[in-house]
Amino acid sequence: MANFETPALREYPVIPLLQVGTMAHSKPFVAKPDHQTPLGFPGQLVDNWESVAVKKLGELVNESRALRVFLDSCVKCGACTDKCHYYLGTSDPKNMPVARQDLLRSVYRRYYTVAGKLFPKLVGARDMTKDVLDEWYTYFHQCSQCRRCSVFCPYGIDTAEISMAARDIMDTVGVGQKYSNEIIGKVYKIGNNLGLPEPALRNTLDGLEEDVKDETGVDVKFPLDVKGADVLLITPSADFFAEPHIDGLIGYGKVFHQAGVSWTLSSFASEAANFSMFIGNHDNLHRVAMRIREAALDLGVKRIIVGECGHAWRVAYSFWNTLIGPFDFLDRNYPVPQHICEFTYDLIQRGALTLDPSANDDKIVTFHDSCNVSRASRMGNHPGGQFVIPRAIIKASVNRFHDMAPDTIHESTFCCGGGGGLLTDDLIELRVKGAQPRMQALKQVVDDYGVNYMAAICAICKSQFTKVLPYYKFPMDMIGSVHGLVSKAIQLGTKE
Ligand code: SF4
Ligand code: SF4
Repeated sequence: MANFETPALREYPVIPLLQVGTMAHSKPFVAKPDHQTPLGFPGQLVDNWESVAVKKLGELVNESRALRVFLDSCVKCGACTDKCHYYLGTSDPKNMPVARQDLLRSVYRRYYTVAGKLFPKLVGARDMTKDVLDEWYTYFHQCSQCRRCSVFCPYGIDTAEISMAARDIMDTVGVGQKYSNEIIGKVYKIGNNLGLPEPALRNTLDGLEEDVKDETGVDVKFPLDVKGADVLLITPSADFFAEPHIDGLIGYGKVFHQAGVSWTLSSFASEAANFSMFIGNHDNLHRVAMRIREAALDLGVKRIIVGECGHAWRVAYSFWNTLIGPFDFLDRNYPVPQHICEFTYDLIQRGALTLDPSANDDKIVTFHDSCNVSRASRMGNHPGGQFVIPRAIIKASVNRFHDMAPDTIHESTFCCGGGGGLLTDDLIELRVKGAQPRMQALKQVVDDYGVNYMAAICAICKSQFTKVLPYYKFPMDMIGSVHGLVSKAIQLGTKE
């Protein structure tokens, strides 16, 4: 365990007193030239970086009216100050959303507002200096782009967008983050974040088929690169790797089997995640996403379904149509990508799946709403479907379910602490401290109802919780996939 104190879990949430600079030491490893150049970024800090940074900022506010409005409209009302899990977990005032925004806003004001040009000190405008750049690197990598603060801001100012813009500028001047950029490079080179090549992927899927056959006696297939399949499943590569993720993949396979739908994975597009969103870079966002369109066209599928991955669903739901659409080559009944939860929910609604919830009677379950699903996308045909659908699937699969406190779920959900490109061990202190509000809410349902299983539909949340639960004295295996629960409850061979 790293050398820091895990925050205490209290009976009631407490807004901490300010501790100035307490997380000033926390910053992720800087990308090396090998991680930068494949993404089209300079390998190191460029000579005239100040003017390059200011120019890039100008381009971004010209391209995005939202970003300009966010930078122009804060009235310092303070409503966001106690809404960020990183502030609540660390006490560092620079982790208050408004303070984080001001890191970029101060530079924007200096170069792109009249008052900032004429009276910089009066309006809190700052020159673009190396100290400012260093501060950006530190505190824009203490934002998981979860958008919780924007829910409480009367102007809807989205700190996530500001954080993405700052990271884009930093990459442009040659100061990228190793973790995210290395992962994007792996997608370009090998096809997925894990760097799992096609033979290893095929091996894993063959092994899964054998395991499920041994367990159930049923030939559930996990097909790869099958041309002419109806469905292309795009799922986070974590699902191929280890528990609790792989239990979800087994669940998807069983659901497809039971639905009688032909499906396939792609070895070329073997990754739902798109870390380019975290670094705020449109060109890379497009390039990663385009692999999915190419795979869908190459395989000739009729539908695209996305597995349990929070930010991937945001990219798919909110951006794919403009990034890689139109999807005019898909079945006209399924003109946009679907979430695996929508697919499973539809089958449950139609009575096409038999689920035995008693198969999960060893579990008392709660659900962690993932940020990007909750606040940046939807599911189904009704507002709020992203909250209703996963819970309906869980409730059909288990007998005992309890939600966490209302101000910590649905659109007020707290981030797991590892989203937005921060799921790296060089940020473990931040990750543990940032998980405190979620752990606090979890403790309440553990104490009140004996909850022993927290389901999630995001690979990052699952990985993050596996790591941080033990810091709070919870077992690491109490986090799991929603489709892991389905997998246990589903009765194969009925209603085929
Ligand atoms: S987007 Fe999330 S992590 Fe970033 S400042 Fe807002 S609440 Fe904090
Ligand atoms: S809630 Fe919105 S307007 Fe108020 S201080 Fe925060 S960002 Fe500014």
